[in-house]
Amino acid sequence: MDETNGDFAARAEQHPEAIRRLEAQAIAAATQPLAQALNRAQQDANTRWLHATAGHPIPEPGALARLIEAIRQSLTRAFRGQGAHAQRAAEQAANAAEQLGETQAAALAAAMSREPPPRRDRPRSNRRRAKAAWDVAAAIPATVEQEFRRALALCTEQAVRAFRGFTGVFQRAKRAIGRIAASVAVTVATAAAAGAKTIATEAGARLLWVAEPGACPACAAYAGRSIAPGEYFPGGLSLDPRRTVFWTPIPGPPRHPNCCCALIPWRPEWNRGGTPLPDLLRMRARMGGH
Ligand SMILES: [Zn+2]
Repeated sequence: MDETNGDFAARAEQHPEAIRRLEAQAIAAATQPLAQALNRAQQDANTRWLHATAGHPIPEPGALARLIEAIRQSLTRAFRGQGAHAQRAAEQAANAAEQLGETQAAALAAAMSREPPPRRDRPRSNRRRAKAAWDVAAAIPATVEQEFRRALALCTEQAVRAFRGFTGVFQRAKRAIGRIAASVAVTVATAAAAGAKTIATEAGARLLWVAEPGACPACAAYAGRSIAPGEYFPGGLSLDPRRTVFWTPIPGPPRHPNCCCALIPWRPEWNRGGTPLPDLLRMRARMGGH
């Protein structure tokens, strides 16, 4: 059975979904140890606080100083090694995402070109080709350290008195989890795009932007646009410029930290008649991807 451009558009829109699934797994792997350690430390802090206050609003000064020192140590233990762990998880995700990007792109290119996919030798490390993704992963420990320091800075008598406990400290500390998640998401989307770029380069093809179904107005505006590998998509596109605009030109997704848009290889001569694939992708994104 011959596939149409519409079939290819539907297949292409499965790519963001696969990237999204990988991203969710990678975020869980990268953040769970810190999230669990902080929950334990917070429970411990609450228990100690209740014990130290013993019915009063604030512990007496000597007890408060000892309590704060204990929480500082517990926070330090909770964060120990977490940046390095999250970096390793992000690097594993970068490898997996780059391979996913390659596999998806190769399968689609083979279907569209009606040629079997070339046999591929898998390099031992993809660091070089997905360098941008690995750079994001490498910055995670410094980010985690920064959030740790900020949480520690709130672990003072004054702040703890103001908050009547350690809620503020742990709220601040848990921002590290969100920042790891954002970095992992960018790592995954960037590496997946690098994988697609490899295939497009080999196939002498362009790179076509596939918006995630239900994408934001900025991403939807990129759907169906294409570049030659090595070129940049323009900045400043959006279907709703009052709401969402990102100004920097980019070599591909992610357009923003939560973006799971994908790139696919595409050549005009792969057209099957009827509405060309780029137009289909553009129209589908403008209708919400369905
Ligand atoms: Zn997007």
